[in-house]
Amino acid sequence: MTMVSPDELGKWVRPALRGRTAHVMKSPDQIMEELGIAPEQAIKLNRNENPFGCSPKVNQALADYGTYNLYPDDAQLEFRELVSQYVGTTPDRVVGAAGGSHVLDIVMRLFVDPGDEVINCVPTFGLYEFISDLCGAKMVEVTRDENFNIDVNAIKAAITEKTKLIFLCNPNNPTGNITQQEDLLAVAETGVPVVVDEAYYEFSGETVVPFIDQYPNMMVARTLSKWAGMAGVRIGYGIFTASIANYLMGIKLPFGVSTPAVIALRASLQDKDYLMENVKQLIVERERLYQRLAQMDSLRPYPSRTNFIFCVVLRGNANEITEELKRRGILVTFYDTPLLRNGIRITVGKRGQNDKLIDALRDIGASLSK
Ligand SMILES: *Cc1c(COP(=O)(O)O)cnc(C)c1O
Repeated sequence: MTMVSPDELGKWVRPALRGRTAHVMKSPDQIMEELGIAPEQAIKLNRNENPFGCSPKVNQALADYGTYNLYPDDAQLEFRELVSQYVGTTPDRVVGAAGGSHVLDIVMRLFVDPGDEVINCVPTFGLYEFISDLCGAKMVEVTRDENFNIDVNAIKAAITEKTKLIFLCNPNNPTGNITQQEDLLAVAETGVPVVVDEAYYEFSGETVVPFIDQYPNMMVARTLSKWAGMAGVRIGYGIFTASIANYLMGIKLPFGVSTPAVIALRASLQDKDYLMENVKQLIVERERLYQRLAQMDSLRPYPSRTNFIFCVVLRGNANEITEELKRRGILVTFYDTPLLRNGIRITVGKRGQNDKLIDALRDIGASLSK
């Protein structure tokens, strides 16, 4: 018997996945440590996290619970009940998962075989392409217009008999803009399964959930990562027709909704008013930050319905600005792709954090014009 070297094992890996390796993403704490900045002093405006944290009731409820040795309820009875009350639907239309990302992943698995086509309205959230690749699907990209609005006619024209799913991120990440409801419904009108990703629903206030009855091919994915400040807990859910929900409950991995997730969801929804007050404050801050950014002649911010603002850097280099901000303990995300040239995405922080960002950007901008 011959031994196989670890490198040779690559040939056993699915061809579509060969050459893929771990994303080496440095943790924010690592980055700050390297720069000699204490993690608690870092201003994290790079991942659309909620600077107010989760509800204090979540911490209390998680500490009070004792039986983490037992498996959670795989039927998600309480989870589905709680979400259905929050959303205003029935529990049989709700499916829970470990984050909105996992909701999108199981929807993908339900509809898409290797070789099938998936329509993606770019530039948009990178996860759609990632999970399509894992399924061996072919990404068909339909470009958004100069204001990042979707092109309904181009989407319709891109549909073939192989199209199994259309992704619509609304509002869109990383650009922040909202899609008109009539455009979303026009895409649903095609009859092709459509996922509307409403990760930022609580910030935008706009949803297509009431139209799922009329368009049973339309599905909505949401998360508690952003508005409820629980990105670390991993709680997402989808809203579907009862029939699709039933399929999804049949293909999901067991126990995807953990006991802490159910506890944290319950406590958050009990404290909804507190959390929505934080959302409101972030919206006020977003508008203030937008005005300040718009005053800088080095940047062009785009209007946002989320908890972040996308800016094109008009003078200077987005990567260098991002690095310079990092040296000052402020993290933002930079983009330089064919469709997002020289851009930065800034998560809206607390007032004081946003002020520090604005000061730093002004300072950097001033040194650029010298
Ligand atoms: C944050 C986000 C999600 C979901 O994130 P999870 O943390 O996995 O719940 C989904 N879609 C978009 C566009 C997002 O920005």
